[in-house]
Amino acid sequence: MIVTKNLKKVFGNNWVLNGIDETINKGEKVVVIGPSGSGKSTFLRCLNLLEEPTEGEIWFEGKKINDKNVDINKIRQKMGMVFQQFNLFPHLTVLENITLAPTKLGIMTKDQADDKAIELLNRIGLKEKALSYPNQLSGGQKQRIAIIRALAMNPDVMLFDEPTSALDPEMVGEVLELMEALAQEGMTMVVVTHEMRFAKRVATRVMFMDEGKIVEQNTPEAFFDNPQHPRLKEFLSKIL
Ligand code: ADP
Ligand code: MG
Repeated sequence: MIVTKNLKKVFGNNWVLNGIDETINKGEKVVVIGPSGSGKSTFLRCLNLLEEPTEGEIWFEGKKINDKNVDINKIRQKMGMVFQQFNLFPHLTVLENITLAPTKLGIMTKDQADDKAIELLNRIGLKEKALSYPNQLSGGQKQRIAIIRALAMNPDVMLFDEPTSALDPEMVGEVLELMEALAQEGMTMVVVTHEMRFAKRVATRVMFMDEGKIVEQNTPEAFFDNPQHPRLKEFLSKIL
């Protein structure tokens, strides 16, 4: 579904991604971990071209997407992204937040988008919040709304950048539960997270990123029980 070839990114003279060659297949749930500043967010943001790669190629569903001729908005519709800070529009209701993109992009009529939004809100038990504003919601509710807002576009892959890092601890569970449900339904997912229990339960593959490279990756069992790279061993000894 996603292929990167020698992906590199530089900010000024800071090489943040140093050549990433990866393939993410349909249905995979890839968890990316690594120290702060190792390039995890930049990697994720390059996948849907929120950051433009300095060098290398990104392929999505058989098409090279870092190419002038590609309509990146079309591509992004198929890649849902969820951020640490929710990024809901504060001046729009929950319903408007969810229906904005599908209606604005002409993918659905207003009625279709409303129906879809209500169905999704129902699914997460927040239908009664449809006309609330984001500041009337808890952090966990906001993040779950952000997730279903992405789902409203029927994406083929979901990218999550530390979706629970800004949440109070008691809200983390409800967000991870929703993500796990998506995983079980077969969604292709790339998740940057520090939630190691989630990684062990849900990931088909865990990657360790350090200084702009994926230095080790494996099934969760092998990754956590038998890490090889000294940096990964050190990292795991600090967080587990
Ligand atoms: P991580 O998500 O692993 O913490 P990031 O991808 O956010 O790492 O950042 C990697 C490095 O790239 C950091 O040194 C950060 O300061 C730098 N960086 C990220 N985004 C930008 C940007 N827009 N402009 C300049 N430097 C950036
Ligand atoms: Mg980050």
